[in-house]
Amino acid sequence: MTNPATLQAMLAQLDLDALTRLGQKVDLPGLLSSVSQLNDGQLKQLARTLGGGGGRTADLPAPDGDFYGQLDRLTPEQREVRAQVRTFMTDQVRPIMNVYWNRDEFPQQLIPELRKLDLVRRVWNEDGTRKPDATLVEGLITLEACRVDVSTAVFFGVHAGLAFASIALGGSEEQKAEWLPKMLDLEAVGAFGLTEPEGGSQVSQGMRTTCRRDGDSWVLNGEKYWIGNSPFSDFTVVWARDEDTNEVRGFIVRAGTAGYRVEKIEGKTALRIVENGHVFLEDCRVPEADRLQATRGWRTTAEVLRLTRAGVAWQGVGCALGAYELALGYAQTREQFGKRIGEFQLIQNHLVHMLGNVTSMLALVLRLSDMADAGEMGDEHASLAKVVTAARCRETVALARETFGGNGILLQNGVAKHFADTEAIYSYEGTNEINTLVVGRAITGFSAFV
Ligand SMILES: Cc1cc2nc3c(=O)[nH]c(=O)nc-3n(C[C@H](O)[C@H](O)[C@H](O)COP(=O)(O)OP(=O)(O)OC[C@H]3O[C@@H](n4cnc5c(N)ncnc54)[C@H](O)[C@@H]3O)c2cc1C
Repeated sequence: MTNPATLQAMLAQLDLDALTRLGQKVDLPGLLSSVSQLNDGQLKQLARTLGGGGGRTADLPAPDGDFYGQLDRLTPEQREVRAQVRTFMTDQVRPIMNVYWNRDEFPQQLIPELRKLDLVRRVWNEDGTRKPDATLVEGLITLEACRVDVSTAVFFGVHAGLAFASIALGGSEEQKAEWLPKMLDLEAVGAFGLTEPEGGSQVSQGMRTTCRRDGDSWVLNGEKYWIGNSPFSDFTVVWARDEDTNEVRGFIVRAGTAGYRVEKIEGKTALRIVENGHVFLEDCRVPEADRLQATRGWRTTAEVLRLTRAGVAWQGVGCALGAYELALGYAQTREQFGKRIGEFQLIQNHLVHMLGNVTSMLALVLRLSDMADAGEMGDEHASLAKVVTAARCRETVALARETFGGNGILLQNGVAKHFADTEAIYSYEGTNEINTLVVGRAITGFSAFV
């Protein structure tokens, strides 16, 4: 039976005019008689259901990871990008992402939908120069994408970051004119092939893929590993060491080129929606016209990586923010011992810890983006942001997963995907150890690389 005090409290909130109108449509005395038979827990559940919000009581604060309102500084145009990506992720990606995660496959139907948003043009100009706020806008796109699904951000980041930047920074005017407009329109999807099966962190020093000039073309031999988008991309930018000069050169290798073969990497436990490939180059002949004409050896590759590393730092923030918001929403609704688990001190401790991480990470990447867009960002700045955000993200998603209890390992509850994807963020675009060494060298003046 219902506690009289609870019933009295609920009755005190009633709008009598509305009740009169309702009484003309339903059997109110019968309804009240049924309600009076409910116990306290059932009554609270009913109140929450009627309050809407998927079981949350309407008067509870809505989950929002931007606690300090740090994104209030955005211009109307930047806000618009953020809102567009949020709508896209909510309407187009969220409903299908678990199906594609299970299939270990990228949903190709998202590409025409992404094309409509025209997001690459918010970052790059057609001539390969960057918009004045390119890094911030790229960050906002990444933040909103990762809040729901990191794989979608990675698909975009590989195409609009690594592959686009390689041609923008290393291509001739003719190469830019041929590829960049198609890439802006997502008519041609790019991939970036640097890592090798035996050459991850050490790839700058131990690159085994080779190129050899032969008349009007180059002959490429070697393997590239982990190459995002490559199983279906229109081309892959392949980095190879010149057999004669030892210099690192970049090539646009078009899909279908003889001697170029991609095998999709199966069985990933993170980022299952983005497709990664094992690329084989076997006497692959690429015309001189498709060698990136304006590269300056490894320096150009490093410049591309510096640009995109800031984006990967934003991935950690988006992933952590999404996990935090899911955990808070869950804590406001999940009941144990007759209370919502958000009422427990230990759960609040988890939530506050997560929020502290997200808030400080956001401050870090906003400042980093300002530095990048002002031309003031060095490798060590991007590396520090990558180190800190990846580590804090890892901690945050683990706490979020923990807040869900056993339900946290079920794909359908969302947080498990964030938990898994963080492991990839932690290791690519420079592992935490390698980025730490970059910062360590900058602050001490001693290189501790072996
Ligand atoms: C999901 C995913 C997507 C990727 N996408 C792409 C892509 O699109 N294109 C591309 O080219 N690459 C891509 N990569 C590759 C990625 O950049 C590499 O995984 C990364 O550089 C690390 O290399 P590795 O995995 O071979 O690890 P390793 O270099 O073998 O490192 C293993 C461990 O040893 C540590 N270590 C290595 N050297 C040192 C040292 N000197 N001091 C201290 N510790 C050290 C590392 O930090 C790490 O903990 C992707 C990777 C993943 C997982």
